[in-house]
Amino acid sequence: MYNIIIKIVCVVNTQLKYHRISEIKKEEFLGKEIRIRGWVYRLRRQKDKAFIIMRDDRGGIIQCVVPSTTVQELTIESSLEVQGILFKDERAKEGGYEIRGNDVKIYSLANNDFPIREYQSTELLLDYRHLTLRTRKMITIAKIRATVLEKLRNWFVENDWIEVTTPTLVKSAVEGGSTLFPVKYFKDEAFLSQSAQLYLEALIFSLGPVWTIGPSFRAEKSRTLRHLAEYLHLEAEAPWITMNDLFSIQEKLLIHLIRHVTKDRNQELIFLNRDILTLNQMTEPFDKLSYSQAIDILCSNDINIQDGEVTRKIEWGDDLNIDSEKLLTKDRRNPVFVYGYPLQVKPFYVKEDPERQGIALTADLLLPEGFGEVSSGGMREENITLLKSRIKKEGLNMDSYSWYLDLRKYGSVPHGGFGIGIERLVRWIINLEDIKECVLFPRTMARLNP
Ligand code: ATP
Ligand code: MG
Repeated sequence: MYNIIIKIVCVVNTQLKYHRISEIKKEEFLGKEIRIRGWVYRLRRQKDKAFIIMRDDRGGIIQCVVPSTTVQELTIESSLEVQGILFKDERAKEGGYEIRGNDVKIYSLANNDFPIREYQSTELLLDYRHLTLRTRKMITIAKIRATVLEKLRNWFVENDWIEVTTPTLVKSAVEGGSTLFPVKYFKDEAFLSQSAQLYLEALIFSLGPVWTIGPSFRAEKSRTLRHLAEYLHLEAEAPWITMNDLFSIQEKLLIHLIRHVTKDRNQELIFLNRDILTLNQMTEPFDKLSYSQAIDILCSNDINIQDGEVTRKIEWGDDLNIDSEKLLTKDRRNPVFVYGYPLQVKPFYVKEDPERQGIALTADLLLPEGFGEVSSGGMREENITLLKSRIKKEGLNMDSYSWYLDLRKYGSVPHGGFGIGIERLVRWIINLEDIKECVLFPRTMARLNP
């Protein structure tokens, strides 16, 4: 008789489709036969029964109870398939549902020394990032990051911006030589792109408003919690645009993003203890602070900056550092634009305000709650003579920019754009301390592996 039952189960087995765990935690599946695949997340053996907490390939988690004899050799992170009946049981960990399994198939027994355990040092988790990605925290972050990318893309598509891609290997600097990564390029030297901006500027003449998302590389020597050597950069550029347009586009983009991410990833944000109400307090228009006002606030708060070897008080003409941005944003719930920077702290391509000598027509967007810069944007210099003198002044090689200068020779138009760091955005949305948590395989000065 027992043999017959086993046979029936096996017959059913081949016909039953696999379910994702998130699909089956519903009343309608109670009492039904279910088949799931995944990995052992936790394991507890009793005399007759074993309790397996299983994780599937979308991070769904459920308790399975199976006869001990079927899983005698089982280890954490072994891959397996369980078939059984779904029950509701208050005692069941992870949401009160459990599968009482009658059939277990092991795909691969994991080595008994899975290195990721409950309390591990940050460094170990980074060394084993290829395995740390299986933790619930990393799965949740990865899902939120994916939704951030999806919603940003949706906004550009819905608003008729054309997506483009630009080269990663380039001949010239965009953001200054000190953070360039040189690479051997056949018999020549090339660099990894710091920004797609110059290419986007070439594309607005034929495609109008364009945007791109791709990696940017910065050889950042400072180890901070918000700098990566490789980060994902969303950049947008449009012809016939003004500073006010640039403010408004970024406001609309960010509001769209936050409203949708907080809705679609509500559970994930709650799991990571993010205060969603605070996030959603963001409203249009964002606050605007002039650079001079910002410097006054910073001076009255005795903010210091590092000037080479010397630490001194911040003064007009300095770029804003992390401490400055923290102070300017810690008590805010809305992002703030800082505009009107001195030309000398901005790259060669920024446009000078025709009404205020030495002032750039640019604005950085600082995220609230102390997070600071997420985007830099502004108008670009259209005048070839001024542009050439800026290139010369910065000691850049004029020849490498000859194609860029052509854009000013043949029908130059007022234009501008901005660039957003995706990991900076994710860091704020989730409220994470370290930017390395916002990317799947982080690259920093100290880390190129895995
Ligand atoms: P910061 O002053 O914060 O170092 P930046 O002004 O040098 O940044 P931009 O050249 O303005 O950076 O780049 C545009 C955006 O790209 C920044 O606002 C930021 O969101 C992001 N970004 C720049 N550098 C990095 C980095 N090293 N790691 C992660 N994101 C970065
Ligand atoms: Mg910047």
